[in-house]
Amino acid sequence: MLKDNLQELQQQETPFYVYDLNLLRQTLQLAATEAAKYNYHVHYALKANANAPILAEVLKAGFGADCVSGNEVKRAIESGFTPGNVVFAGVGKSDAEINYALDQDIFCFNCESSHELEVLNELAAAKGKKARIALRINPNVNANTHKYITTGLEENKFGINAWELESVLQQLSQLKNIQLIGIHFHIGSQITDLTVFKNLCTRVNEFQEWFVAHNITLEHINVGGGLGVDYYTPDANLIPDFAAYFGLFSQFLEVRPGQQVHFELGRSLVAQCGTLISKVLYIKKGITTNFAILDAGMTELIRPALYQSYHEIENLTSQKPEEKYDVVGPICESSDCFRKAVILPETSRGDLIAIRTAGAYGEVMASAYNLRDKATAIYV
Ligand SMILES: *Cc1c(COP(=O)(O)O)cnc(C)c1O
Repeated sequence: MLKDNLQELQQQETPFYVYDLNLLRQTLQLAATEAAKYNYHVHYALKANANAPILAEVLKAGFGADCVSGNEVKRAIESGFTPGNVVFAGVGKSDAEINYALDQDIFCFNCESSHELEVLNELAAAKGKKARIALRINPNVNANTHKYITTGLEENKFGINAWELESVLQQLSQLKNIQLIGIHFHIGSQITDLTVFKNLCTRVNEFQEWFVAHNITLEHINVGGGLGVDYYTPDANLIPDFAAYFGLFSQFLEVRPGQQVHFELGRSLVAQCGTLISKVLYIKKGITTNFAILDAGMTELIRPALYQSYHEIENLTSQKPEEKYDVVGPICESSDCFRKAVILPETSRGDLIAIRTAGAYGEVMASAYNLRDKATAIYV
């Protein structure tokens, strides 16, 4: 895709993000088709990428919205998602955020603590409303992913732990402005080992038994997101294996009559359609390697600096023999390095560099550190 559009890319001021809307559509369509086989409902996690053209495609695919802030709820609704298809998670929802979501009558608050339930009940009562909620349960399942994107272990801040559930149920019986409609789980991100999701299913089944034993019928089971993508060989796996992913849940998740199953996919839907394009500013000799200094840095894509994550790096304009480079950005931080010891064709000032698989958690995490300008986005 990138080399076919090289002329257009060369005319843009760097750095910028380029999104392949065809690939996005194909990805969304496949996910929708595979989910529909089991009547599963998918909510797109806006925090992965909330650009208007991306959201428009997600909306066309018929997905709902999974939000983790009041502004995301607002963005979703203003982008055309019906409030009945919006869920709102997060450990630290502010009063203003809750009030806004209550006014919009969103589908469900995914509640993460007993204290939050108390506050939500008060705020709903003040409006004479009843808030639909799902309890976000921490299932203590290891996602086998980077520790900064693991969320389902007891040491993590997310969700309500199993041992608190008994007292939370007692509390809920007193909270008149809250209606329990389901349970919610989200154990982490960039999960590539599908057995992790099988373990999650086992835990969800156990929690369901527990609720049944307490005479509680749950209409909704939300198993979150987290499906990983191939950062190492993106072209070989541009679209994740949604058939295997949803198929695994259909095999191992016990669904009771009348229950709806929900998913919250972010990365797996949008990561591969985005690329960060940058120009080489300088080549500088180091001791064991040369530095290729780009005009993009951690301000445009922070994942390598934040989670030591791997991104494929390509030189789109050189065909020379290969050399080794540390590919770095211009920001005044030593962690502003996309990757060390990258093999690239001999690289010179002005070459166009593509940093792949940047569609998720790229542009949304951009910062103005060093008073950097916001990079633009183009769509092809
Ligand atoms: C981030 C997040 C997601 C999406 O995770 P991906 O790994 O991008 O699929 C889903 N649900 C919740 C609650 C989240 O915080």
